[in-house]
Amino acid sequence: MLPVIENDKPWVLVGFYQSLVKPLGAVGLILGMISIFGYLFGIEALYRPMANGPATNPLTAICMIFIGLGLLSTLNKKNQKLQYLLGIVVIVITVANISDFIFNSNVSTLLTPFYSQVLLDQELGKTNGLGINSALMFLGLGFSLTLYHFKKLIAAQLIAFITLAIPMISITGYAYGLDEFYGKMSLLTASTGVAFSIATLALTANIGAVKAILSPYIGGRIARLQTICGYAIPSILGYLLVKSLNSAGIDSFGLYVVTICWFIILMVSISAIFQERVDIERRKGEQLLSIAAMSDNLTGLANRRKFLDFGQEAIERIKRTHKQVWILMIDIDYFKRINDTAGHAMGDKVLVAVSQTLKESIRIVDLVSRMGGEEFSIILIDADIKGVELVAEKIRSNVGNMQVEGWTNLHGAINISIGCGLNDGSQTLDETLKDADGALYQAKNSGRNQVCFARK
Ligand code: GH3
Ligand code: MG
Ligand code: MG
Repeated sequence: MLPVIENDKPWVLVGFYQSLVKPLGAVGLILGMISIFGYLFGIEALYRPMANGPATNPLTAICMIFIGLGLLSTLNKKNQKLQYLLGIVVIVITVANISDFIFNSNVSTLLTPFYSQVLLDQELGKTNGLGINSALMFLGLGFSLTLYHFKKLIAAQLIAFITLAIPMISITGYAYGLDEFYGKMSLLTASTGVAFSIATLALTANIGAVKAILSPYIGGRIARLQTICGYAIPSILGYLLVKSLNSAGIDSFGLYVVTICWFIILMVSISAIFQERVDIERRKGEQLLSIAAMSDNLTGLANRRKFLDFGQEAIERIKRTHKQVWILMIDIDYFKRINDTAGHAMGDKVLVAVSQTLKESIRIVDLVSRMGGEEFSIILIDADIKGVELVAEKIRSNVGNMQVEGWTNLHGAINISIGCGLNDGSQTLDETLKDADGALYQAKNSGRNQVCFARK
């Protein structure tokens, strides 16, 4: 097996994406700290960015700080333990919160710093709480970080990817003005959640789906285009429908579903066109490669490998049809002398001319190969001894009479010797080759420039 060449184009996007872990982690960490400062110094604007909107709950802020620190610790070999310790603390906090939500208990309030301030806000009718959506989001982030630490990279990536959906829903809610979409999640928490999910995904940018999307090759380019269109177009369409049709009292849901279905089909079709184009190029390339692997560079004839494949197939066939296959081994006489007197370049020219003459002397079903050096072979399909005698003789005299550009009589004549071996289905290819070689040896020994047959 050849090694797969994967790096002939630089994977710049993977590197760039990985470099986002630090800034995104830091931004979330700072925002979390700002909220805590807000509680510490009683500056509400720091934890409630929109006057009447939801606040960043102190427990949410703690989660932000822990995940931010956890992300930053992934970049430092010395702090690796922090990743999962912080991840596990966040898991504990969020699980407590989620079970409060399910069982109507009150465990997470015990974990909440500045709880009196939270109570005060709630008494004043202001939203301040770690909502179920934020809790699930931080649970996902905590899990993803922990899995990343334990090298369960695909699982870490999958969870980060699913987690990204939660703050995206909230952001969409803010964009569309649908408050049930974000609930208690403040815009600040939602934005931080997006930043954190993207950063957590970036940790595994060099594997799986993220790597595929960031690939510098055509697959990656299509995937990126589809990711952008796949998010932007339904979002814009949704926005338009929510804003226009809903306000006109029309139920737009069915229309939206149908439009999105058609959009997906359109996207898949376009990508199929691209994939098909690329695949045609690949198939062409493969064909050219396999031709190149089976042919000789100098003469363009089939090479030894092709000869063996073809010969084997021909023998398999005559085992059923009871016909004969003949193998002719051909060697140019005194070729060394041709090289010595006329030069190596002229030697090459002679090889090309002999190849051409051999090809022109046989039927289309037969095969001429260059076995190496100045040795050629011909496989004659469905031939009998009389026919082979005629063909071999014709080949010998054609080569003797051929014209080579720049060749003068001073260089002497160009001749070949031919040895013929028969295969009637009862010999192996190797045996017939040996027979033909023996006959060639005999032709050389008997004075060259002649045809000999293997004796049976
Ligand atoms: P014989 O009649 O006994 O076959 O004599 P010969 O000189 O042809 O015998 P030999 O097989 O010893 O010589 C073959 C020569 O072919 C040796 C080598 O330098 C030359 N040769 C092999 N490949 C090439 C090639 O690709 N180009 C050229 N110009 N010469 C080649
Ligand atoms: Mg030779
Ligand atoms: Mg020779």
